[in-house]
Amino acid sequence: MSEAFNVADIFGEDVFNDSVMQERLPKKVYRDLKKTIEEGKELDLATADVIAHEMKEWAIEKGATHYTHWFQPLTGVTAEKHDSFISAPLESGKVLMTFSGKELIKGEPDASSFPSGGLRATFEARGYTAWDCTSPAFVRHDAAGATLCIPTAFCSYTGEALDQKTPLLRSMEAINEQSIRLLRLFGNTTSKKVTPSVGPEQEYFLVDAEKFHQRKDLIYAGRTLFGAMPPKGQELDDHYFGTIRQRIAGFMKDVNKELWKVGVSAKTQHNEVAPAQHELAPIYAQANVAVDHNHLVMQTLKRVACQHGMKCLLHEKPFAGVNGSGKHNNWSLTTDDGRNLLDPGKTPHENIQFLLVLTCILKAVDTHADLLRESAADPGNDHRLGANEAPPAIISIFLGEQLEDVMEQLIVTGEATHSIKGGRLETGVRTLPDLAKDATDRNRTSPFAFTGNKFEFRMVGSRDSIAGPNVVLNTIVAEAFSEACDVLESADDFSMAVHDLIKKYAAEHQRIIFNGNGYSDEWIAEAERRGLPNIKSMVEAIPALTTDKAVAMFEKFKVFTQTELESRAEIKYENYAKAINIEARTMIDMASKQFIPAVIRYTKSLADTVIAVKAAGADAAVQSEALEEVSKLLADTKKANVRLAELVEEAAAMEEGEKQARFYHFDVVPAMEALRAPVDKLEMIVDKEAWPMPSYGDLIFEV
Ligand code: ADP
Ligand code: MG
Repeated sequence: MSEAFNVADIFGEDVFNDSVMQERLPKKVYRDLKKTIEEGKELDLATADVIAHEMKEWAIEKGATHYTHWFQPLTGVTAEKHDSFISAPLESGKVLMTFSGKELIKGEPDASSFPSGGLRATFEARGYTAWDCTSPAFVRHDAAGATLCIPTAFCSYTGEALDQKTPLLRSMEAINEQSIRLLRLFGNTTSKKVTPSVGPEQEYFLVDAEKFHQRKDLIYAGRTLFGAMPPKGQELDDHYFGTIRQRIAGFMKDVNKELWKVGVSAKTQHNEVAPAQHELAPIYAQANVAVDHNHLVMQTLKRVACQHGMKCLLHEKPFAGVNGSGKHNNWSLTTDDGRNLLDPGKTPHENIQFLLVLTCILKAVDTHADLLRESAADPGNDHRLGANEAPPAIISIFLGEQLEDVMEQLIVTGEATHSIKGGRLETGVRTLPDLAKDATDRNRTSPFAFTGNKFEFRMVGSRDSIAGPNVVLNTIVAEAFSEACDVLESADDFSMAVHDLIKKYAAEHQRIIFNGNGYSDEWIAEAERRGLPNIKSMVEAIPALTTDKAVAMFEKFKVFTQTELESRAEIKYENYAKAINIEARTMIDMASKQFIPAVIRYTKSLADTVIAVKAAGADAAVQSEALEEVSKLLADTKKANVRLAELVEEAAAMEEGEKQARFYHFDVVPAMEALRAPVDKLEMIVDKEAWPMPSYGDLIFEV
């Protein structure tokens, strides 16, 4: 499929990165841009003109004919509007290729067709995109040719965020400011900036394209809405081992190559638990770049899969009864001089700072567990979170045995005087034990786990942008830091005050720590005793966005206004209702036009058989019984289909909003399950030849 290549040669070859800028931009312009990138200084138009010109020249050398402001509206996917570089034809009949600073910095797509959750009514319909110069521009090669992609934020004309990027950048400013405050208290005078580092692990399924196209549910909903589990499981996997390996390996090779060219450091890849499921993880990057790169990863997986005659399924639950897909959002805080605030450190001094950071995070997550849960809410994730699959819907933190022990001692005595791993531990005097990565054992059932020098948030949906979860993480931790700094900055005795604060936070928020099995029923009961929220579905999670507590925090740190939060909640209800509406209608369509007719035909052949067997004077009991059973399930199917159609009609007639979304969740979804049940039973007993589409076995074991 593709020829050999040298990774070092191709990595970043299509990115307008620092080395390209240094090489091509005049020194002063380069310095000004770096200031903008590093310190957020505003870029003047003259400088922008020079950058735009050089960027265009570079892109044209790469074959680009168009540029696009690449942005992330609240549809869940990225959006772009392409403009070619050509100017109006000259008198000579020729055209020039132009690109101005103004075009680089600001674009004006029509905002009215993107979700705005009421913002449109209250504010102007127009929107604009603004260059996020901290995420580098790149040239993308695809069927459209080569396009210069400029990562941007998308706002209304009055400044309301209409996208994922704007609040993310705001939250990064908030966590930066509060982290610096905290570092200064601990005597750090050199670090200038703190950025969240994010490494998302992406899970996905691959299925054969031809089979995919025979299933309307996969086409319209991205997941199977019907389907019985094959009678044989993993052993079929071995059977097809050889062919799977070759086809998938070729795919992964091309995915990596495409990603490396646009500067995404695709690092690990492996097969996941379920057959046909795989994972790809890049090396972590600063949060906004990681978000952009994750979108590139998802798009590249889909595009390259098509080139290989496959389809990439990013849905959280493509197959019932088979492990679903998620995204592990690894998160830490890094200073511009390379220090990780989540690294326990080697000196007592660093240890205390680490313990304060850690207890602040306990406090943040405990206080805003509902918001964190909401950030992972997605119609697809409703099938995973709280539905007997990884991870549970209850937010808790896994610290590992060692750290939990340290926490307990802090709470009891106010001092940790020993540690499990040996070596005395006394905050302020001795150092914490070496919390080497492997010492924190892995708890795969925890939704929020400390893994050595980072936290891993494992609830995020495989299809979702990771922007939302990181906005929440950055802001809730900024709030906790800020409140700690308020206390410490006014303390007479800093050491004593830190000590007391760590102890206080540890004691007050201990309930969020859980190191046991997150899937067990005991945990559900225990969590309830502890008063931890157990929010089971997306529609029940959305109200977290607009509580007084959430509004006060997001407004204080200038991440969202109340209006923006309300509009986001509206959009989420609408998105949920739309998603379920599509699924339900697809089910009705498949049942009416495919399953019911196929089974009717099948009953006819069974009836004919019964007559023929009887005419031959033989016993037709088995055939008659089969006919009876199939006919009964057919009647159940018909009835459930009618019921679902009624409910969908009722739902569609309702006004958009919370009430409608709840109706879809609590009434339509159960009716969908009621339709699925008899169809899946039929699939198990109807002749495979008569079944109108590829089965689970065909889809996941024969890629
Ligand atoms: P796992 O064992 O969970 O697979 P890995 O070490 O493979 O962990 O890392 C998973 C992801 O976490 C990768 O994207 C990696 O780059 C990222 N990661 C590693 N260290 C950090 C850190 N300090 N902050 C944020 N992400 C990190
Ligand atoms: Mg992981």
